[in-house]
Amino acid sequence: MDDSEAECDYYSHNSSDDDLEFDDIKPDHQCHSLPSCQVITSDSLLAAQWDVLQRVMDLLMVGVHHARTLLIHYHWDVDKLVTVFVEKGKDHLFAEAGVKMINCPDLGTYLSPSSTVFCNVCMEDVRYNEATQMDCQHSFCNNCWTEHFIMQIREGHSRRIKCMSHKCNTVCDESVIRNLVSKRDEDLAKKFDRFLLESYIEENKLVKWCPSVPHCGNAIRVEGDVLCEVGCTCGLQFCFSCLSEAHSPCSCLMWELWTKKWRDESLNLNWIKINTKNCPSCLKPVEKNGGCNIVRCVCGKPFCWVCLQAKSYNHACGRYVDPGDSVELIRKALYRYRHYYERFKAHRDSLNLETELEKTVRKKISFCEEETGLREFNWLEKGMCVLFRSRRALSYSYAFAFYMFGDELFKNDMSKQEKKIKQNLFEDQQQQFEANVEKLSKLVEEPLEKYSVDDEVKAIRSKVMILSNVVSKFCKSMYDCIENDLLGSLRCNIHNIAPYRSDGVERASELSASLTNMGS
Ligand SMILES: [Zn+2]
Ligand SMILES: [Zn+2]
Ligand SMILES: [Zn+2]
Ligand SMILES: [Zn+2]
Ligand SMILES: [Zn+2]
Ligand SMILES: [Zn+2]
Ligand SMILES: [Zn+2]
Repeated sequence: MDDSEAECDYYSHNSSDDDLEFDDIKPDHQCHSLPSCQVITSDSLLAAQWDVLQRVMDLLMVGVHHARTLLIHYHWDVDKLVTVFVEKGKDHLFAEAGVKMINCPDLGTYLSPSSTVFCNVCMEDVRYNEATQMDCQHSFCNNCWTEHFIMQIREGHSRRIKCMSHKCNTVCDESVIRNLVSKRDEDLAKKFDRFLLESYIEENKLVKWCPSVPHCGNAIRVEGDVLCEVGCTCGLQFCFSCLSEAHSPCSCLMWELWTKKWRDESLNLNWIKINTKNCPSCLKPVEKNGGCNIVRCVCGKPFCWVCLQAKSYNHACGRYVDPGDSVELIRKALYRYRHYYERFKAHRDSLNLETELEKTVRKKISFCEEETGLREFNWLEKGMCVLFRSRRALSYSYAFAFYMFGDELFKNDMSKQEKKIKQNLFEDQQQQFEANVEKLSKLVEEPLEKYSVDDEVKAIRSKVMILSNVVSKFCKSMYDCIENDLLGSLRCNIHNIAPYRSDGVERASELSASLTNMGS
């Protein structure tokens, strides 16, 4: 079908503008099934950690030192800690983590300050008040303890400093460590506290440092599912599982392989970035300056930036066509890679150009608000949001397809016949999705002049809204197809992807830094 027919399909049955709504975009808090994530800054880290400590202190009636030792042992997984507590009891829980509770804590009070203690490390008698007894009842002189603590901290064992007694598994009291070390080395004591604090990030599978370079100082905490993509308040969006850029619907492993291949191949071939291409009709050089991959030459002919075929705006060329047996294997492999790479790259470049476009669109919006008095331009921002998230998904979908239908990863998972069928199914989804993304892109790029006419704005508005919904629907079907029909059907599947979100990568909200219920 041609361009106009397709448009008729989408626009005809919606005669009244006022009924139009975006069906698929919901604010974050409405998506209960999806993980929500929060930014932890250096200011809120203490509050975040304290919140968990408090829960364990209340549950087990223990002090902060024991709560922290337990949580560090269970990698800050409160649910796991509670499960062990319920299933195996307090004694088991404590023994595992190296926590000893003092049974008769007033044992030592009968000793007078003049009585002495024999230190088993330096083999000397010291005054009672110059020695310290740990929870495990082992006593050593303060000098020896201090040496021990300093060495352990310097060697990076701050979070699990054990008692000096042979085979004693007890973790030393952090307040004793802090107190003794600060008398000798104030800075090291501060470092010790820092290490304890950052354990909450570094040994917690639900919290990770933002991988921004230079580092923004933030960490991100997710709830429940670690298979997700998050956006830090510094602006970086990343995959929470592998800390690389957000790459769904590509799996982490596929993305790792792809980036490696991408690096290697670009070294081999020394591909240059081409900003101009010659129009296939009149051969004049044409520069691409928008995101839309269907560009129009001065001669009036539109052509596809990727494959250079002169076609209408309804063009799609993302299907891989096998060149047949005439081409030898090496060249065929390269040909195949280039097919996917070029499309991956084209959408990636388009995304960058469209991000630039965002500024222009903002200008358009303020222009319109002044000129026409129209206040409602939410639809244009939402349309752009759909366009960005779709571009991103499209780009990565080519890296995905390269591995999904290649021989590298799933050679033994599908028969040739099965693969052919699945590839067709996927490409059907992908190509319809892609064609509509280009249409949406073209619409969003409409020149400013059109916005000075009221009726034109209304027409663009309804088109953008309808097309955004269509694009979102296709994007979701592509994710569904990948998750269920393709990856879901593999026998042993290590390829998981972050689930589809209508509004793209989730932006983490900032965690409050106030210590609401911190004890003394
Ligand atoms: Zn000693
Ligand atoms: Zn001990
Ligand atoms: Zn960040
Ligand atoms: Zn990943
Ligand atoms: Zn031309
Ligand atoms: Zn386009
Ligand atoms: Zn093309």
